[in-house]
Amino acid sequence: MKKLACITLDMEPDYGNPEKRIRLLENSEYFERYVSIINKYNVKVTMFTVTNLFEKFGDVFSNLATRIPLEYSVHSHTHDPHNACSLDEVQNSKQAYTNFTGKIPIGYRAPIGRIDKAGLGHLLDNEFMYDASVYPSVRPGEFGYSNLHMPNIPFRVKRADGKSLIEFPFTAIEKIRIIFALSYAKLFGWGIYSLLLKTFGLPNHVLLLSHPHDFYFASIPNSTVTGAEKFALSRNSAKAFDYFEKMIQFLVKQKYEFVFVSELAKEVKYYRIQEIAWEHWK
Ligand SMILES: [Zn+2]
Repeated sequence: MKKLACITLDMEPDYGNPEKRIRLLENSEYFERYVSIINKYNVKVTMFTVTNLFEKFGDVFSNLATRIPLEYSVHSHTHDPHNACSLDEVQNSKQAYTNFTGKIPIGYRAPIGRIDKAGLGHLLDNEFMYDASVYPSVRPGEFGYSNLHMPNIPFRVKRADGKSLIEFPFTAIEKIRIIFALSYAKLFGWGIYSLLLKTFGLPNHVLLLSHPHDFYFASIPNSTVTGAEKFALSRNSAKAFDYFEKMIQFLVKQKYEFVFVSELAKEVKYYRIQEIAWEHWK
């Protein structure tokens, strides 16, 4: 089985920023640093985009697409965690994506992993080929989940009418189920995180998770994020670009080939992978 890695970027307004700016795109220092890391390692970026941003940020996205290998995928229409995969969100995001790209979207990622059975049903009805929303881990709190029963590798969700899609869970470090995300590398610090990576390893198919705010969280002014969450997200903020590069270097050393999520989906489509009946989703 080929070792394939996807770099994913969830394109959404900076977390906790009332002005809803996206500094990764606006700040030329951030922007150029990001572009240079992507190109240095010839990686490909799949950008799960909140589709109502196409209107305001369309030109900036198009500019980014001239600088790095970039494909768009869908990260809901409005990024409302209380309405992450409703029929409206699925249909509106599909429409906005099609208007902007001229293509039909094949992939969806629900805000903060809040996919559910009904949402998967809407994706099946709307001919989506994959979903990439399940955290195979545990998170406490209002938007918490406990998904240790979920696979850490791609699986198929199949409905009785024969329709199916591939679910790409967020990749976790094997056994310990810590997500392969820039935010987690920053939380643990590279010393510990890299030790965990080397000790337990990653599966053959990897999706690295990142958000614009991961690269500069502590520098976002007037943040509405407070307390433990602010502390956690602010850790090692100044080292974020370095950590991102180290995560890519780890994949290079482990001989992963970099592909878009759409390419991974087309590859996995023909694999014998675990199948979960949509009717039994929980
Ligand atoms: Zn998001």
